[in-house]
Amino acid sequence: MLYPNRISQITKEHPDAIAAIICGVLLFCGWFALHLNWLGLALLLLPAAYVIGGFESAREGLTTLFKEKELDVDLLMIVAALGAATLGLWRREYHLIVDGAILILIFAVSGALEGYAMRHTERSIRSLMSLTPDVARILRQGREEEISISQLRVGDEIVVKPGELIPTDAVIIEGYSTLNEAAITGESLPVEKTVGQEVFAGTLNGYGALKLKVHNPPESSLIQRVIRLVEQAQNEAPPSQEFIERFERGYARVIVIAGILLAILPPYIFGWDWETTIYRALTFLVVASPCALMAAIMPALLSGIANGARQGVLFKNGAQLEIMGKVRAIAFDKTGTLTTGKLEVSQVISVNGYSREDVLISAAAVESSSEHPIGDAIVRAAHNLNWYRAVDVNAIPGQGIIGTVGNEKYIVGNGVFVQKYARYLPQELIDSAESSEKEGKTVVWVAKSSNSETVQVIGLIALADMIRSEAAVTINRLRKLGVEHIIMLTGDNQRTAEAVAKEVGIETVYSSLLPSDKLDVIRQLQKKYQTVAMVGDGINDAPALAQASVGIAMGGAGSDVALETADIVLMADRFDKLVAAMLLGKRVRGVVRQNITIALTSIVLLLIANFLGNINLPFGVIGHEGSTVLVTLSGLRLLK
Ligand code: ADP
Ligand code: MG
Repeated sequence: MLYPNRISQITKEHPDAIAAIICGVLLFCGWFALHLNWLGLALLLLPAAYVIGGFESAREGLTTLFKEKELDVDLLMIVAALGAATLGLWRREYHLIVDGAILILIFAVSGALEGYAMRHTERSIRSLMSLTPDVARILRQGREEEISISQLRVGDEIVVKPGELIPTDAVIIEGYSTLNEAAITGESLPVEKTVGQEVFAGTLNGYGALKLKVHNPPESSLIQRVIRLVEQAQNEAPPSQEFIERFERGYARVIVIAGILLAILPPYIFGWDWETTIYRALTFLVVASPCALMAAIMPALLSGIANGARQGVLFKNGAQLEIMGKVRAIAFDKTGTLTTGKLEVSQVISVNGYSREDVLISAAAVESSSEHPIGDAIVRAAHNLNWYRAVDVNAIPGQGIIGTVGNEKYIVGNGVFVQKYARYLPQELIDSAESSEKEGKTVVWVAKSSNSETVQVIGLIALADMIRSEAAVTINRLRKLGVEHIIMLTGDNQRTAEAVAKEVGIETVYSSLLPSDKLDVIRQLQKKYQTVAMVGDGINDAPALAQASVGIAMGGAGSDVALETADIVLMADRFDKLVAAMLLGKRVRGVVRQNITIALTSIVLLLIANFLGNINLPFGVIGHEGSTVLVTLSGLRLLK
């Protein structure tokens, strides 16, 4: 049973559907009246069907005509229908008025269907991601109070009970729990988290009660930023769509001119009578319209974007989806991309009378200001030693880091970098560095200036990184998916790089690269392979990510840089999502190609049939609109 307020809600949400239904009823009654020879009633009902079913299209068509001086498909439909009605009145062939009304009805129905499809995609994206609760439980003087989440401020302490949604991005200050982060990463395996770790708005708390400290206001939480990015992606037409839209404008003009010629010339050339001629010209207007072509791309891309978001693959615009489907070469960063980036200090060696503690302390003093995973590992290894944080710290991406403690300068970084200051590297260290590097370890040299003049190497630190367990399999699958060339780009030295490359099955390695060198290599690759993807994680990859045809960042839930510089963000820190992204790209390309084929074929077939005189107007409309609805629905398949 439909209650009045429910009805008014439906009318508000689907005005196009309501108009189509009323148009259908009027059309049916008008047609019936015509059969009973109640001509007066029929001539009242049928025009009403025209007005109600065609009002919206006519309004849009006229707006485009006057504002943009462009003809659009909507207007062509209305003109064709009015043409049929005029012909019907003139020749007293009233069934032609019915034909025109059928045209308007079917056009209205397919418009309503398309509108529904679009709203459905939009809603499914929103419901996927806007999973944040309305209220939060804040702690004030030890007591819990419920407040609306818009009142939460950075620094507030809140509690989240088992089974509740996290209201905003925050850090755990008490408790331990497992969280389902599927809303952000697409990964429903629970993640264990405890004191000091970050939890994200929209993720679901497991069995533990948590006390949290808010560190992002709700409106700029990660999930809100992701939603905004997805919405932006949807509003941006990719180049292929823009091409089709430009094409439509030119094409509409051609159709109108051809339609006029078709309405005038055939009687003189082929000896057709006027009625047949005009009728066919009108049918031509309908079947030649590029509606199906217009619907071939966008619904498919939108569904693809929504599908990706659900799997934790964030596409920043539709064009990237298409490009991802035809990538021919991929460049991988090493640290943090092919490896987990969670380094561990595995060996410390000291020389020149210093102790191993001295080496660790000196390195930690500068690295404590570093964002780099190397710095992280060194500080962790030195956590129960006493040291001071260096000042004037200067990190040089891809090379190393310098800082001052008292009046001593500390230099930490790769061999080439440290050698610039220390003039020479002790031979005994060079030997052990080489053997560590052959095992795939990263070696960092530590030097300091003792009396503000001479800089001396005091030792080295070897760090082990874990190669991601999915890396080798994933790279193999990417090759099978048709990627011709796969390389590694790294700031680390050749020996370390080769050891890692061998494990994951990459043959070509470019090592000791500065961030700008990575960019140059990508440019070179683009000359040879055109579509080149770069997969990276850190600040040092940003220029290369930007240069690549498609830049892919790992672990979007962990790093803002990744979210900002990349075109595609793999929200979970999972390497195998690359395959998911590529498969989706290929599916989207496949569907778009199919859709364009369907659209063009149906237009050509209907044109031929019309010219040979085998179809009437309603049939032309059904064929034409049928193919439009078909390609729209076919695009929506990608939601699954
Ligand atoms: P990748 O390209 O593999 O991600 P980076 O470009 O970040 O590696 O670093 C390249 C090399 O530069 C490292 O292997 C290390 O030797 C040196 N390096 C970079 N940053 C630091 C740092 N903060 N501390 C010490 N060494 C560093
Ligand atoms: Mg890296």
